[in-house]
Amino acid sequence: MNLVFLGPPGAGKGTQAERIAGMYGIAHISTGDIFRENIKKGTELGRKAKEYMDRGELVPDEVVIGIVREALAGESCSQGFLLDGFPRTVAQADALEEMLQEIGRPLDRVVNLNVPDQVVVERLTARRTCRNCGRNYHLAFNPPKVDGVCDACGGELYQREDDREDTVRARLEEYRRKTQPLIDYYRDKGLLVEVPGDGSVDEVTRAIQEALGQGHGHTGS
Ligand code: ADP
Ligand code: ADP
Ligand code: ZN
Repeated sequence: MNLVFLGPPGAGKGTQAERIAGMYGIAHISTGDIFRENIKKGTELGRKAKEYMDRGELVPDEVVIGIVREALAGESCSQGFLLDGFPRTVAQADALEEMLQEIGRPLDRVVNLNVPDQVVVERLTARRTCRNCGRNYHLAFNPPKVDGVCDACGGELYQREDDREDTVRARLEEYRRKTQPLIDYYRDKGLLVEVPGDGSVDEVTRAIQEALGQGHGHTGS
């Protein structure tokens, strides 16, 4: 199964992608995680991306498209993939279509997580992220078992610099201008499934599973 998760920053893409990719045994590819790993390691790619990320702007298309091309070629994608945070522009979506055509693995579904703006801001400003594995928590809605420590790997939790309120606003602007058009783009291609994202984490997971189980495709469960 080959999937894309769409939705504004804070919609719950990363949280749900980790669960759904685990359930279906497919690779979870988060472009944001790849950038943060590169920033941590101090690579050239990280240096380039950080400049944009800190301002709440999108990283240039050609940079992102290159890393996705590389990720899709990886062994871990052999059973399928879930793209989280890519594509974010029409140019990225067109490039993705071309790449997938080349390797003969078309998208099965694009899941759009619908969450009102107010909820998004509430979620992002109390998000905490694992420095080591990238898993996301929320201080109130989805807290770790031990304060400041990742349940999955024991890593240290921190607040992303771009999760402060002023940068969150800039990211929502970018989303509206550049990413929102992809909803119609994928609806027109007949790939879009809309899922309400404002229930509990478990409720949203169930709603996504239901949406993926419907209609065509080889969705398994
Ligand atoms: P995205 O990848 O779309 O930016 P995340 O998965 O990181 O979103 O979620 C954003 C924040 O909201 C995190 O703090 C996460 O723990 C929290 N969160 C995710 N899903 C829910 C939910 N259904 N209810 C409440 N909080 C959630
Ligand atoms: P969120 O889901 O909270 O918006 P991400 O981790 O997906 O956060 O992305 C963080 C930042 O990384 C974005 O604000 C942007 O600067 C950069 N980024 C991630 N994915 C892309 C992409 N597909 N195109 C351009 N920039 C991206
Ligand atoms: Zn961790």
